[in-house]
Amino acid sequence: MTIKIYRGKDCVHHDVSAEHPEHPDRLYAIDDQLLSSGLEMICQHGDAKQVKRENLALAHDPYYVDSIFQRSPRTGVIWLEQDTGMTPITLSAALYAAGAGCDAVDWVMEGEDRQAFCAVRPPGHHAEYDNAMGFCLFNNIVVAARYALKQYELSRVAIIDFDVHHGNGTENIIAGDKQIMMCSSFQHPFYPHTGSPVSASNILSAPIKAGATGEEFRKKVSYWFDALRNFMPQLILISAGFDAHAEDAMGQLRLREDDYHWISKQLRNVADEVCHGRIVSMLEGGYNHSALGRSVVAHIKGLHGDEQSH
Ligand SMILES: [Zn+2]
Repeated sequence: MTIKIYRGKDCVHHDVSAEHPEHPDRLYAIDDQLLSSGLEMICQHGDAKQVKRENLALAHDPYYVDSIFQRSPRTGVIWLEQDTGMTPITLSAALYAAGAGCDAVDWVMEGEDRQAFCAVRPPGHHAEYDNAMGFCLFNNIVVAARYALKQYELSRVAIIDFDVHHGNGTENIIAGDKQIMMCSSFQHPFYPHTGSPVSASNILSAPIKAGATGEEFRKKVSYWFDALRNFMPQLILISAGFDAHAEDAMGQLRLREDDYHWISKQLRNVADEVCHGRIVSMLEGGYNHSALGRSVVAHIKGLHGDEQSH
């Protein structure tokens, strides 16, 4: 078994309010489904370490990183912007979330045919070079991508982002970076109202209209796979958001578990061909807890190359 699931110690303790959709119960829902699916028994466990500040600086303005440390409250909640709050534990949770990506990169790169899923929060793909946004403080997936490029002297990595929201932060940081290809699908027009047209030639986008089904999603993203094979990434990273699920009220796309299984298996096939099966996936959105848990199970089965059972 080659799948390892990384968790961060404080990721379940970041809790800005009971009404906030980015809630600790998301992680409990994933754990419940992993247990009842039997995957929990066959996946390896990884306890993430907190990210090093120098690795955050691979994706972010060091002054921005300093400002997040300085604004961390001793009590109560402070709001970095309307959607993104910090409690006294949030900074630690965010450091574990970003650290999980680096630890997962280490594990995946130090062997062959390895895949990792980071069940962490807060998410990251809305966090820009010097700006917190949309529940995100640090851009976990870009930190992982840049860490992999530096630590393992890689020259090409790919980021695939299938969250219902455009990963504006990821695009903001890596636009024009020839070492990183980003393939991104998202409901459009929709929050955060970016992503179409793309801002640079290393970004492949698939904007999708509200109401679209998994069939339309598959058609829209199918051009990615040849582009990925041509780019030949040495590592594939996934911003795995599950809020495009039909049961998720955050967006208006109508994907199902089968669609997450499908895209994951396609990416596994590409990874087998070009990068020894190496994939690091990190949780982004997904706010209907039942759909989130089931979709993560389908995603992990797809990454592992298993068939989706019905
Ligand atoms: Zn999202």
